[in-house]
Amino acid sequence: MRNRFAKIVATVGPASAAPSNLALLHDVGVDAFRLNFSHGDHDGHRKVIKALREVEAKSDRSLSIIADMQGPKLRVGPFKDGGITLTYGQEVTLELSDELGEDGIIRLQHPELFKAIAPEQRLKFDDGKLMVTILSVDGTRAQARVDVPGELKDRKGLNVIDAVLPMSAMTAKDRIDMEFVLGEGVDFIALSFVQTAQDVIDARKIIGDQAGIIVKIEKPSAVEQLDAILDAADAAMVARGDLGVELPLEQVPVVQRQIIRKARALGKPVIVATHMLESMIDSPTPTRAEASDVATAIYQGTDAVMLSAETAVGRHPATAVAIMDRIISSAESDPEYWSGLGANPLPHKPTTEDAISQSIRTIVETLECTGVLGYTLTGSTVRRISRERPRARIVGLTPSAKTASQLALSWGVEALVTEDPSGFNDMLLRAEQVAISHMGKTSGDQVLVAAGIPFGRPGRTDTLKITTIS
Ligand code: PEP
Repeated sequence: MRNRFAKIVATVGPASAAPSNLALLHDVGVDAFRLNFSHGDHDGHRKVIKALREVEAKSDRSLSIIADMQGPKLRVGPFKDGGITLTYGQEVTLELSDELGEDGIIRLQHPELFKAIAPEQRLKFDDGKLMVTILSVDGTRAQARVDVPGELKDRKGLNVIDAVLPMSAMTAKDRIDMEFVLGEGVDFIALSFVQTAQDVIDARKIIGDQAGIIVKIEKPSAVEQLDAILDAADAAMVARGDLGVELPLEQVPVVQRQIIRKARALGKPVIVATHMLESMIDSPTPTRAEASDVATAIYQGTDAVMLSAETAVGRHPATAVAIMDRIISSAESDPEYWSGLGANPLPHKPTTEDAISQSIRTIVETLECTGVLGYTLTGSTVRRISRERPRARIVGLTPSAKTASQLALSWGVEALVTEDPSGFNDMLLRAEQVAISHMGKTSGDQVLVAAGIPFGRPGRTDTLKITTIS
C-alpha cells in the first residue's frame, strides 16, 4: 500500500498522455487521473482512458479516472490582429457579435452575459489579469472602463464578478462529452462553474449512478449555496484558479477550509486544486511557499491534492508527483496532523454504518491497530470510515470494479475487487489473506473487519470484528 493517506490527482496532457508516462505517474504516486475536456478531442481522451485501465489491470492498486467538463466558460472572441491593448481609464465597447474584435471593441458570443451585466459590475479577463467596470448596457452592447490594463488576446477567458448568469453549468458540448465519457466508463465527472444545486440535479439526470459527480466550487454563488450543492454531489473540488478570479483573493484560503470541512463532514471526497506546485511547470523543485501550500491542505484534512499544468504540460511531471508525495508523507508523520483531524467533531447519523465507523476510529486508537478492512458494494461504508480519519490503512473489498476505482480518491483507502464471501468465516479468512498480502500484517497482528451480513445488500453494514491474524 502507499505510504500516505491523502491522495494525489494528476491532470493528463501532452506531457503525460503516453501510456508509459501514465504507468510511471501511477507508480510514483498518482491515485486519480483528471482528463480536462477544455482541451483535446475524443479520440485522444479515449486512448488515455484505455491506457489507464490497462495500467490499473496490471497493478494491484485501483485508480480513479475523472472527466472534467469544460462548463460554461465565457471567452472573448478573436481579434483582427490577434489581440488589443487595454489602457488604464480607456472606455471600451463590449458587443454581442461573431465579427472580429478591434481596438476599443471586444466582441463576444455570449447573449447570457448581456442579460446579466449592469452598471458597476466588474468583468475580469485572462484569469483575472485585466479588469473593466461596466458603465452602461444597451441591449447587446455595453460600455466599460478599463481599471486593470494589459494585453487582451484572442479567446481569453472572461469572468463576470458579482452576478449569477442565467446559464446552466452544462453546455451543449458538455452533454456530448458526458455521453462520450459515460460510454468509456469513467469513474467521476467534474462539473465546472456550478452555481446552484439544480445544476447538479440536472447533470444527475444524465449521469445517474454511472459515475460520481464532483462539483467544482469556483463561483461565489456556489460558495453561498455550498450546503445544498454538496448535498447533491458525490465529491467536491476547490477549483482555486477560477475561484481566485471570481472572489477576492484573500477569501480563497477561507473558502478552502470551509469546503474541506463541510465535504468531510458529509463523507464526500474533496480535492484541493490549482497552483499547488505551479513553479514546477518549468523548475525541478517547487518554491517553499508551494510546499507549504500542499502541506496546509493536508493539515486541513483534504482527501486529495491536485496537479494541473505541472503534469499536463510541465517539464517534470513525475518529479512533481514524487515531491507532492513526500510533502504529504511529511505532514502525515507530524503528531499534530492527527490531533488536528480530531479537532472538529463530526456529525453522526443514527445508522449502524455511522455507529460502526465511529467505533472503528476509537478502536484503532485504543488498540493501536493499523489495519481496517471494509466489505462494500457501493463504497458508502468505506467512505464513512475514511471520513473518520482513523490512523489505520483502510482496504475496501468490493465485487464492483467501479466502486474500487472510485474509492481510489478517498483518504486512506485502497480497494480490491473480490467476490463477496459466502459467510462470516469466509469473510474473516479472506480479510486475513488481504491483510497479509496487501497490508504486510503478520501472525499476531490485529485488524478490524466491517461488513453487512448477509452480503450483497447495499447500506446494511452491521458487523464489526476485531480479529487477530493466525
Ligand atoms: C480551477 O479553476 O482551479 C480548475 C481546476 O478548473 P480549470 O482548470 O478547468 O479551469
